[in-house]
Amino acid sequence: PYDRSYNFSAGPATLPTEVLEQARDEMMNFQKSGQSVMEMSHRSKVYVDIFTRAQNSLRQLLSIPDNYDILFLQGGATMMFAGVPLNLLKTGKEGKPTVDYIITGDWSKKAADEAKMYSDYCNVNIVVDSKQGADYKTIPDQSTWKLTPGAAYIHYATNETIRGVCFNTLPTFPEDAVVVCDMSSDFLSRPIDVSKFGVIYAGAQKNAGPAGATIVIIRKDLLGRQLQICPSALNFKKQADKASMLNTPSTYPVYICGLYFDWILKHGGLPWIYQQDQEKAKLLYQTIADSKGYYELFVTDPKVQSMMNVPLRVFAGGEQNKENMTPHELKFVAEAAKLGLVNLKGYRDLGGIRVSMYNALTLDGIKMLCEFMKQFQAQNP
Ligand code: PMP
Repeated sequence: PYDRSYNFSAGPATLPTEVLEQARDEMMNFQKSGQSVMEMSHRSKVYVDIFTRAQNSLRQLLSIPDNYDILFLQGGATMMFAGVPLNLLKTGKEGKPTVDYIITGDWSKKAADEAKMYSDYCNVNIVVDSKQGADYKTIPDQSTWKLTPGAAYIHYATNETIRGVCFNTLPTFPEDAVVVCDMSSDFLSRPIDVSKFGVIYAGAQKNAGPAGATIVIIRKDLLGRQLQICPSALNFKKQADKASMLNTPSTYPVYICGLYFDWILKHGGLPWIYQQDQEKAKLLYQTIADSKGYYELFVTDPKVQSMMNVPLRVFAGGEQNKENMTPHELKFVAEAAKLGLVNLKGYRDLGGIRVSMYNALTLDGIKMLCEFMKQFQAQNP
């Protein structure tokens, strides 16, 4: 009804139409408050209720145990690359702590590089780096990893957005390990056991809302381990003590996140989303397989293929331009856009096509894309 496109952007990404409709309906006068949510004081009762409701809905969705705090912060996942070491390095043990980083793609590499900026306070151990030998196309077996006994924490990313490498089975760690996870690009895409993690963080702009809200879920006993140099706004303990309102939070993005959480809950929670996401991924991977090599996957190992981000190349000739796009790929992107299938251009370094199909992208969108892919192949051999 709104002439909206199917949006395959890797983030900021498509939002559920129902969420946008509700935001539209509430825009000018939120629940008879006489104001838009954007205009409210974050200290007002009407806004605090919105914020608390978003936290409660997220707690319900992920079955987050009571011994975890939910923070809505700012700065994106990139800020948390710094926030994690800044908040977890005071372990109370003698000597300089070691932190373990598992690198399976560009984002977990960036997280490790950020931690290295705090090398005065920690040793950064790279447990595994799958660029070496595998060009981030797969994840070496856990038996080959070199974990540090007694590490202050272990960091990894469940889903690597650029190359589409995902832990479809989550790794297991010693019981007492503090596991920290960047879930930015597969947040809320399947049920997870939060109690296995010390800290989970995610930028909202892919699977949970608009850019501007950054979600941090932290086990309460880990609060208070911050270094003295930790900035206050990034200090998880100070933020938890002030219910994420040490300073002005990103009020409107958190409101939209709350609507998004409620939208998932209304439709059946994470089991529903997981079933949808699996169905979409199955259809796309099947279409690629049926193309007999016309569409070529970057990640071919099904164990680590992502349900969220699927980079691929369109086979067939031609020189690549400066953005690593062949003439066929440029044509693919342009023709798809004419049909309302937008933002399919690949990540600039990788080139080709990237299909991102987050929670809010409907099955209809993927069906239409798959039809288009078949037609394009037939017409452009
Ligand atoms: N981690 C992952 C897995 C991501 O996909 C992204 C964003 N593409 C980031 C971190 C960085 O997020 P932000 O832009 O919110 O800082």
